[in-house]
Amino acid sequence: MATYLDDAFWCKIPAFSQVSEDEFIDYKWQIKHSVCNEPNLIKTIKDIAPDEFIKAACQGFSKTPMAVRITPYLLSLINWRDPWHDPICKQFIPTSNQLMEDHPMLRLDSLHELKDAIAPGLIHRYAHKALFLPLDTCPAYCRFCTRSYAVGRDTNIVKKVNLPIAPQRWKEAFNYIESHPELEDVAISGGDTYNLSAEHIKAIGFRLLQIPHIRRIRFATRGIAVMPMKILSDEKWLKAITSVLNLGRQLHKEVALHTHFNHASEITSITQLAMNQLFELGLVVRNQTVLLRGVNDTASQMQLLIKRLSYINIQPYYVYQHDLVKGVEDLRTSVETAIKLEKNVRGVAAGFNTPTFVLDTPGGGGKRCIHSYEYYNRETGVSVYTAPAVKPGQYFLYFDPLHSLKVEIRAAWQDPKKREEMCSEALKEVIPVP
Ligand code: SF4
Repeated sequence: MATYLDDAFWCKIPAFSQVSEDEFIDYKWQIKHSVCNEPNLIKTIKDIAPDEFIKAACQGFSKTPMAVRITPYLLSLINWRDPWHDPICKQFIPTSNQLMEDHPMLRLDSLHELKDAIAPGLIHRYAHKALFLPLDTCPAYCRFCTRSYAVGRDTNIVKKVNLPIAPQRWKEAFNYIESHPELEDVAISGGDTYNLSAEHIKAIGFRLLQIPHIRRIRFATRGIAVMPMKILSDEKWLKAITSVLNLGRQLHKEVALHTHFNHASEITSITQLAMNQLFELGLVVRNQTVLLRGVNDTASQMQLLIKRLSYINIQPYYVYQHDLVKGVEDLRTSVETAIKLEKNVRGVAAGFNTPTFVLDTPGGGGKRCIHSYEYYNRETGVSVYTAPAVKPGQYFLYFDPLHSLKVEIRAAWQDPKKREEMCSEALKEVIPVP
């Protein structure tokens, strides 16, 4: 039987030592006390984190694409005696001395979402499914966000594309979806749908469910992992989700939540209570994990995460190979790591709770099973994938991080001519000779 952290764990943070349980599990208190800038971060952790860490964190934020935003809940779960190795800290706080050089083939919007968008915030890549982005904010900002081109505030190195909450903009998306009968699925993401008001949840949910050809909708939120107390204390929001779920039931359509946990230490007794509530309502919750170096890239870490998620009725359905995102090479692993991990994970949980390891192909080919490469050169780190049902005839290249390659190969990637040769050599292996 799994047991989860259930003491007043936040009291070890001096800034929260006097906070009562009632306050701590109030989502409004969490939002009000979330750390949203560097001075505030320093103030909150100055008595518990090593000085060198605080200095490196401030320098880190000036070099990375995501702004500071972290909830008191997350701050309370970090081991501040050794934040350098803490799996939660690594996800939200960059430190300058851990940052690594970007791979030269890396692009800000590596999945080509902007290119594949048919209207601002609406991506129609798979014939049956659309990705709708009604907002560009989240309750906490992950360093490795794929959508770092848009999510959160501008940073020193990235001027964001804005996708604000704007019902007028959404109308264009709804009209497009309505006029495309091949669409059955809509993923509502962002940003994070936790940050949508109850009224907006209902407006979006009802509108989409009433489109006859839409059969399934899912709200994407990392909220259950970064601020589970919202499920327990924001009655209006929960009622809104429930009313969308109920309409879906009446219309025989699925309404689900897709969430995002990366490490077992993100799960506490508060998460369990929140999940119990969602389970009682009959809401299906699925999890998408991102494979992160130093966070969940060992068999024991990934196995424990899967077991803990399954225990609280979250279906761990995907593990994503880390996308090529600016400023987070220290968190990326090779495809080889993902392949080994997948073998170690299969068999520890029921088949339906065993995640598929996928790689979202740079260039917009969509998600491919990690094992399904056409070619993989472990020396140069180039893998080639195809997506016959999404973009037939095209080839998609993924690049292992430089730190996973030999020194001479790393140097070769810095040379534009050799770079070109390594990519052509990989493509030659798979493109049929006419
Ligand atoms: S919650 Fe999702 S969208 Fe928001 S910053 Fe994290 S990865 Fe990006």
